[in-house]
Amino acid sequence: MKFRRMREMMVSTQIEARGIHDQRVLEVMRKVPRHLFIGEALRDQAYGDFPLPIGEGQTISQPYIVAEMTQALELSKDDRVLEIGTGSGYQTAVLAELAYRIYTIERVRELFVRARKLLDELGYHNVVARCSDGTLGWRDESPFEAIIVTAGAPEVPEKLLQQLTSGGRLIIPVGNRFSQTLLKIRKDEDGIHKIDLGGCRFVKLIGEHGWEAG
Ligand code: SAH
Repeated sequence: MKFRRMREMMVSTQIEARGIHDQRVLEVMRKVPRHLFIGEALRDQAYGDFPLPIGEGQTISQPYIVAEMTQALELSKDDRVLEIGTGSGYQTAVLAELAYRIYTIERVRELFVRARKLLDELGYHNVVARCSDGTLGWRDESPFEAIIVTAGAPEVPEKLLQQLTSGGRLIIPVGNRFSQTLLKIRKDEDGIHKIDLGGCRFVKLIGEHGWEAG
């Protein structure tokens, strides 16, 4: 099957070759049908080494970035994960394969509706989705063992730090509108520890504790 072979190639040449070593992450990247999260016109490019447009001015992240962020979250089977920026739902599906339950927030209604439907069709019943401003987090379901933000923020939203468990990990791109640094933040008893995972470029995180729209 064509897409399966393309997926194998994607994992070996773009992801494994660049140092992603978590076998569970590699296995999931080989499994989740990325092409289904992309409109038909661009489907043949689904396994390329780049982000792609998904409508509404938004993009699905490059496969390597999805793998890198997922590995950095250090997920266990019983973790509850908050994702800000559902977009196509692809990253959500990857997380859903590795953790207990995923709470995902998307601010653009069209994308939220489309991703919700596809994740249901693919049988990801451990995903809870909502359409709102994710910079506020999801207080009623907090705290989370892991939080992932897939849009670029001007700074780390304080609410997200508050909604992490002790021992929890937050992965978030922080910077200006054009380029960001991918940060891994760990919260424990003696405070917050930040690690710089390198440069990246995401669409804007828009909301009360993000950028203004427009
Ligand atoms: N992980 C997605 C990437 C989508 S791009 C994927 O794999 O397809 C980032 C997404 O974040 C966009 O869909 C954008 O609409 C959404 N977004 C931006 N600001 C947001 C906010 N404050 N709350 C929730 N979603 C937000």
